[in-house]
Amino acid sequence: MTTLLDLKDITAGYGPVQALFGVTLALEEGEVLALMGRNGMGKTTTVRVIMRMLPLSGGTLFFGGRDIARLSSHRAAQAGLGLVPEGRRCFAQLTVAENLSVAARPGDWTLQRVLDLFPRLGERMGQAARTLSGGEQQMLAIGRALLTNPRLLILDEATEGLAPVVRAEIWAAIRALKGQGVSILVIDKSLKELSGVADRAVVLERGASVWSGRMARLGEDIAGRYLGV
Ligand code: ATP
Repeated sequence: MTTLLDLKDITAGYGPVQALFGVTLALEEGEVLALMGRNGMGKTTTVRVIMRMLPLSGGTLFFGGRDIARLSSHRAAQAGLGLVPEGRRCFAQLTVAENLSVAARPGDWTLQRVLDLFPRLGERMGQAARTLSGGEQQMLAIGRALLTNPRLLILDEATEGLAPVVRAEIWAAIRALKGQGVSILVIDKSLKELSGVADRAVVLERGASVWSGRMARLGEDIAGRYLGV
């Protein structure tokens, strides 16, 4: 197996406020890795560093064997990092079709493949994104990220704020993506759902990685101590 994403001892912060105090994680090609931890422990900040939206002050960051620590966020996206951000930001005034086409880059992921994954988007192609339900907007955000043909898909709280039935649809899509060999870094609060899809997990506590291992080995002691469940 080849390591796709490799973070070692990452430190970073917001101005004078340090938020990450040593995050280490590695994601193998084709793997689904869960990034876990309670609120405010640094998951989204870690994603921002990976996406090059936030500078790192220490540590190393490699993607596909390449040092990306100094890359701009634009170049990071070009290098194959595809983010579905927290809060699923779509272009509200653009139609579904436009949202999908602005992002598209040539590769295995075509519009048809995205519509096969999310048939409901196909029925909404002419509608403005702002008129979609929360679940449909999430599908659009995932579809848009896939159409950039990323080497790694990062899902930050993809099911947050959605009704249970819609959540189930999103999880089914994530499992389908895994089945198709997509490498995924996934952040979510549902240990149960993560257990069903993630190969391995990394747990953050106060901005530092404190546990990593196979998902099946994340026992009650770790969940109780670091995840509050
Ligand atoms: P959540 O599950 O609530 O999204 P998280 O694990 O993603 O939490 P982060 O959002 O990465 O946590 O926050 C880590 C720390 O950085 C927190 O102490 C938070 O208050 C701080 N922080 C996050 N964003 C900013 C910001 N824009 N400016 C200043 N501090 C921030």
